[in-house]
Amino acid sequence: MIVSSFPIFIVDLVGSMLMIVFSLFCFGRMVRLTTLEKENILWTYLLFVCAALSIFAVSRSAGHILKQLLLFLNFTGVWGHIRPFSGSVNTLTFILVASVTVFFERVWVINRAILRDRRALRQAHEELSWLNRNLEKLVGERTEALAVSEKKYRRMFELSEDMILVTTGKGNILALNPAGGKRLDTGASFGDLFVDGDEFHAIMETVSGEGRIGNTEAALKGVGGRCFRALVSGVTVTDMDSRERNVLFMVRDVEETLTMREQMATTEKLAAVGELSAGVAHEVNNPLGIILGYTQLLKRSAEDESSLKEDLSVIEKHVIGCKKVVESLLNFARSGPSEKQACHLHPIIEEVLAFTRHQAEMDGIQVITELGPDLPEIHADAEKIKQVLINLIINAVHAIDGQGEIHVTTGSEGPETVFVTVADTGSGMDAETRSRIFDPFFTTKPTGTGTGLGLSVSYGIVKNHGGEIDVISTPGKGTAFTVHLPTVGGEGKSGHRENR
Ligand code: ADP
Repeated sequence: MIVSSFPIFIVDLVGSMLMIVFSLFCFGRMVRLTTLEKENILWTYLLFVCAALSIFAVSRSAGHILKQLLLFLNFTGVWGHIRPFSGSVNTLTFILVASVTVFFERVWVINRAILRDRRALRQAHEELSWLNRNLEKLVGERTEALAVSEKKYRRMFELSEDMILVTTGKGNILALNPAGGKRLDTGASFGDLFVDGDEFHAIMETVSGEGRIGNTEAALKGVGGRCFRALVSGVTVTDMDSRERNVLFMVRDVEETLTMREQMATTEKLAAVGELSAGVAHEVNNPLGIILGYTQLLKRSAEDESSLKEDLSVIEKHVIGCKKVVESLLNFARSGPSEKQACHLHPIIEEVLAFTRHQAEMDGIQVITELGPDLPEIHADAEKIKQVLINLIINAVHAIDGQGEIHVTTGSEGPETVFVTVADTGSGMDAETRSRIFDPFFTTKPTGTGTGLGLSVSYGIVKNHGGEIDVISTPGKGTAFTVHLPTVGGEGKSGHRENR
């Protein structure tokens, strides 16, 4: 029995020993692999399997060696006691391997998610480290870009021809650019700069309601009490530091543009009236002459003190009035082309005074001349300039009620312009009258005395000469008209300068 089972005994004994050696060798290799790549879940799983197989191999082989030894030594009973334990250990190791295998897939998914998160974390970490390293450089670049942009906007703010100002929501001025500083009186509130406070309130109301306001015309107080018309636009802006809502205003001075537009309108009006006048005057002048002639003939043959003679006198007076208007109209219509040549201003003035002075002095008015020395020659149509001066002197005489003075002054304003001023101590004009004196047919004189064409004709003549007319008038104190004319070679400017 012993001899026949010997080879099996040897194979079982040697096989069990080899099984222990191989399983421990496999376990050792798995431990090495796992140590090399700790995060590899597959190695970890195989390590578990190898560990379980090694336990199984050790338990099974040790059981077999023990069994063979006990059987060989004839301790069959003892083996009977140990056998179930060896079997249990084997069963447990198989259950362990099976459970690890069943949960492996879940562990694998979790492991992959963990690995993914870890990769993302590592990437974020790397980005953070890069940012950290480059933060200083980035901040430097951004600061530089900000400084460039700030410089650009500051230049715009400082060099703008328009006035730019920032105010609080209530209109208190926080910042004002140099163009604004030059033109506006720097009051604490934007509202103080409006001639009419209601205009300011209307603008602020629109800005706070709609967040902006487009070009809105308003009259503003300028430096030194000068008022000017301006276009105001504004938009609300939020202050970066205080988070308060302020208003950014752009104010454009349009006084000059509007004045020019008004002057152009006057010129157009004059041109239209000129054309109309020419036609009407030609048609009416001759019949008027005939009516006047016949009236005077009839008057001569009528009996003195008769009512017929009185009636004819009334007709004569009114026809003469009509003729005056028509002649003014003809003058007006003729004020187009002029024959200009080099001439001196003083002989023109003396000629005018020769026949106006007498009438003035009869009315108790003194005419005082202050003629400047060495005036350069002017490039002008002497007859037309005479017409202008006669108009100005007649107006001055009319403005003086009773005694007074008329000063005729001349002088040069550099080599390009000379001036003549006709100043009186008469009634002066209020602002309303002053604004309309150059309008054709505007007159404050009674019918028959004024035609309202004197100044508009004068304006046209001076403009045609490339000159200007200034008016300074104070009600109750007097008026001064100054005519500026270009000299020979002088560059003329046109229009009347301003009415004060
Ligand atoms: P007219 O003399 O026929 O009224 P003008 O065109 O010459 O027409 O003048 C227009 C108006 O200007 C006058 O009616 C007058 O009201 C005003 N005016 C002109 N010159 C003077 C002056 N020197 N002083 C005051 N008012 C003046």
